[in-house]
Amino acid sequence: MKEFKTESKKLMDLMINSIYTNKEIFLREIISNASDAIDKLHYKSLTDKKIKIDKDKLEINISIDKDKRLLSITDNGIGMTKEELESNLGTIAKSGSQDFKNNNEKKEDIDIIGQFGVGFYSAFMVASQVRVVSKAYGSDEANEWLSKGIEGYTIKKAERDDYGTTIELTIKENDDEDYDQYLEYNTIERLIKKYSDYITYPIKMEEVREVEDKESKEKKEEREVKTLNSLVPLWKRRKNEITDEEYDTFYKDKFFDYESPISHIHTSAEGTIEYNSLLYIPSHAPFNYYSKDYEKGLQLYSNGVLIMEKCADLLPDYLSFVKGVVDSPDLSLNISRETLQQNRVLKTIANSIENKIIKELERILKEDREKYEMFYKDFALQLKFGIYNEYGLNKDKIKDLILFNSSNDLKQVSLKEYVDRKKDGQTKIYYACGDSIEMIDKMPKVESLKEKYEILYCTEYIDEFALLTLREYEKMEFANIATEDVEPEEEKEELKKNNEEAKGLFDEMLKAIPEVSEIKFTNNLKNHPVVLTTKGAVSIEMEKAMKLMPNADSIKATKVLEINESHEIASKLKDLYENDKEGLEKYTKVLYAQARLIEGLSIDNPTEISNIICEYLSK
Ligand code: ADP
Repeated sequence: MKEFKTESKKLMDLMINSIYTNKEIFLREIISNASDAIDKLHYKSLTDKKIKIDKDKLEINISIDKDKRLLSITDNGIGMTKEELESNLGTIAKSGSQDFKNNNEKKEDIDIIGQFGVGFYSAFMVASQVRVVSKAYGSDEANEWLSKGIEGYTIKKAERDDYGTTIELTIKENDDEDYDQYLEYNTIERLIKKYSDYITYPIKMEEVREVEDKESKEKKEEREVKTLNSLVPLWKRRKNEITDEEYDTFYKDKFFDYESPISHIHTSAEGTIEYNSLLYIPSHAPFNYYSKDYEKGLQLYSNGVLIMEKCADLLPDYLSFVKGVVDSPDLSLNISRETLQQNRVLKTIANSIENKIIKELERILKEDREKYEMFYKDFALQLKFGIYNEYGLNKDKIKDLILFNSSNDLKQVSLKEYVDRKKDGQTKIYYACGDSIEMIDKMPKVESLKEKYEILYCTEYIDEFALLTLREYEKMEFANIATEDVEPEEEKEELKKNNEEAKGLFDEMLKAIPEVSEIKFTNNLKNHPVVLTTKGAVSIEMEKAMKLMPNADSIKATKVLEINESHEIASKLKDLYENDKEGLEKYTKVLYAQARLIEGLSIDNPTEISNIICEYLSK
């Protein structure tokens, strides 16, 4: 007897002792595996001439032996070798298994089973023993995998005529739960209709009926093999015949998500290029979405035959979260070896899909704000990155899909909404950058400016890159309030005069902080003594972002130290300039350090600053 891997054991324990009310999903899991196995062989046969199969015979068979309490599911798919039986069924191979590992400490088992298609092991919810007999295509040896549960499993040689796999479940005896039902034709038929109707291979089962002979009145058995599924894949069926629940189940099942998508787009195109597509916009990002493990792509079918699990060329990066299937009779089966650039059909489909998704997102934003914000919470980063990426190639397509926090009501606002409610005479779209809304709100300039204009809060480093890539929205330029002059004309004149008069003072101060390029008075600040702003293309937020990127840390913002003209510190500085040059130097250093800290920058000389402050504190 071999032991299961630890994670498998845990999962299995959950299955066996499950109080989960939806045990019936076990059948869906097994059928789905069988269908995958047939897909694999089918695809192989289409691309490898040496493999010859009769594709009309590809099917899944279900049989029941009530006396022995056996429910068997047989497929003539690719099968498994001894090693594959061992590695596939001895450990969790599931895409959701990582999620499971991360979650099983925290959540109830009900959650886990509902959330992740738990695959093969779900059989143990209804079976006291599971026996798998499989023969890999091209091999002449069959093997049997057998397990009664958590203790482990055995593998040994077995007999089987043809390639393929049989999963034989010994159904548990009834307790509080009715397990007998899984030995009834009617239950199985109902479950197949409910969960597996979209499977593209026939799922067959023999129905045994008792009928009374009309003349002799004798009872006799009548047997008939029936196909339980409708065989037309969901995406090929008519929209008005599909319920929301069917769309939903299909999505969760096929794309291993436990939450419903925010929307689906089902289209069928006829004309020069014929195709069906069924696309889904998820409500949240998968756990690995923002990692290099995440693979974008749509399932690609050619007339119902799966030819590629994830066709990346069908989706631009900024829409990489979209899931779905595309099926076209106009695609060659060898498409996987070609690329988008080479294939006109694929390119046309990709373009039309892209437009449809954008339109749908715009529609949801307009008509169901709450739903959109739920989606946006997880995918904002991707969309904003999409604007900036590829030198802004897609910026116009995405600009109406992004939202920013706003000073108005701290709610999210689209650029369109911002522009529509701009103040009279306002010519620019103002934004401010910082680590969080709270930090931006405390920024000296924000305090006074937000009384005049609405300000967009950029809290992600990508925000400003996106805005700079857009440059303008409906002819209004974006302006970082940290770099922008926003004073009224009269005050500007007065300020200019005062700045000129203080030139000597500023020159003296600059000697103490040579990395600052300019010092000036401002009347933009309410209570704060100082603020750090920038000149030129690189802002402080960009300097911070660059610092995180390799080989780019030499890029620095050109800094301006602005001093609140009406703050007491202004006259103190003037006084020091006349009477105490050494004191002025120290004051300058401390003020600059303060300004840096407010901006969220670190200081290079903390000991020196601390000593100066201490010196003054002890006076
Ligand atoms: P998943 O299907 O998500 O990978 P499962 O636990 O359901 O997880 O199955 C584990 C693996 O066992 C599958 O990935 C597949 O390789 C293999 N397998 C299961 N059932 C079959 C089958 N009927 N034919 C061939 N391989 C199968």
